[in-house]
Amino acid sequence: MPSTSLPRKSTHQVRVGKILVGGDAPVVVQSMTNTDTADVDATVRQVIELAEAGSEIVRITVNNDDAAKAVPVIRARLDAAGCSVPLVGDFHYNGHTLLQEYSDCADVLDKYRINPGNVGQGEKRDIRFCQMIEQACIRNKPVRIGVNWGSLDPQLLARKLDENAALASPRSLETVTREALVDSAVNSAELAQREGLRPDQIILSAKVSAVPELVAVYRQLAERSDLALHLGLTEAGMADKGVVSSTAGLVLLLHEGIGDTIRVSLTPRPGESRTREVRIAQEVLQSLGLRSFTPQVTACPGCGRTTSDFFQRLAGEVQEHLRQRMVKWKTQYPGAETLSVAVMGCVVNGPGESRHADIGISLPGTGEKPVAPVFQDGEKICTLRGEDIATQFIALVENYVDNRFGDGTDGTQSDAPVQAG
Ligand code: SF4
Repeated sequence: MPSTSLPRKSTHQVRVGKILVGGDAPVVVQSMTNTDTADVDATVRQVIELAEAGSEIVRITVNNDDAAKAVPVIRARLDAAGCSVPLVGDFHYNGHTLLQEYSDCADVLDKYRINPGNVGQGEKRDIRFCQMIEQACIRNKPVRIGVNWGSLDPQLLARKLDENAALASPRSLETVTREALVDSAVNSAELAQREGLRPDQIILSAKVSAVPELVAVYRQLAERSDLALHLGLTEAGMADKGVVSSTAGLVLLLHEGIGDTIRVSLTPRPGESRTREVRIAQEVLQSLGLRSFTPQVTACPGCGRTTSDFFQRLAGEVQEHLRQRMVKWKTQYPGAETLSVAVMGCVVNGPGESRHADIGISLPGTGEKPVAPVFQDGEKICTLRGEDIATQFIALVENYVDNRFGDGTDGTQSDAPVQAG
């Protein structure tokens, strides 16, 4: 796993199963299932799907007795399937009871997520919170103390609003609410430490659903705490809106060194795979240069010089091929994830962009000679032509990967004729 290029603000490193979070560890991608945890088959299937897509930690809800009973079975089934991804239990309202009553569940989970805003009111709040922290201390488990805009401790907010109203110049409701959210996270972390939890067992989060608020809240959080931070926009939404909002918030903060583990909380369309959120989180980290997961394909947008969609289809085909091959390349060709490939639509920027990539192809635009020069490490190596340019180019990429990241003996040799340029 390559290390991050931007220094993180947290100084404490938390071990979640086999994964390190915080300090100088690379920013970690995580996700959450949307199956009923008591449905073991469906949950195991989705956890494996998310882990295979690249989720390094997977959170599952533990909301009732049946879910708590299912957790050890899920863990055993995942282990039997060779899936060692750490599991986080998401607890709300009754976590103190479930963790005490279902010790197998508490034992096999790699982390507990506790929301201090909904463990109870008044005195019960601290008692139940501390009961959960006690379970974590007994088992040496890390805890994410995750506060949320939508479930902020109402008493804390009321107190802060009263204090604010008494000021000569009261601040805005947004400012006070933001401060209450950060207070809730920081105060809860302090309470957890007084109860015996070490700083290297705590990850903090304070999620909101608007980008400017998220940025403001996390800047405050990073200012006031050196604990590891989990980052994500909650209820980001669907489709383009969810992707853009999540990306905007994550990028601003990650670039400042804020955030040690991330999740993109997208609302999938009915029947849509949950893995999209994992891919987007990976793309965010890779585009910032913080991590490398999959070779990147640079493709031009196309314009009036490309009257066919051939290069768009080729770019898509190459990207999909690389994504699928990375499953094997991860172990066979360490470093292949850093590969850069260019698929360009015409002579204007094609040769130049292709020279900048490790391997690139410049397809013929409208009116150009029907040939496609290929560049490798900045040099033109051949020219492709004919109906099966895609197959030929993919074969060249395979050979390049084998030569550069392997021993040069396993690359797929193209049967198609390649004409030296
Ligand atoms: S490289 Fe050519 S086809 Fe692609 S956007 Fe630029 S001018 Fe248009």
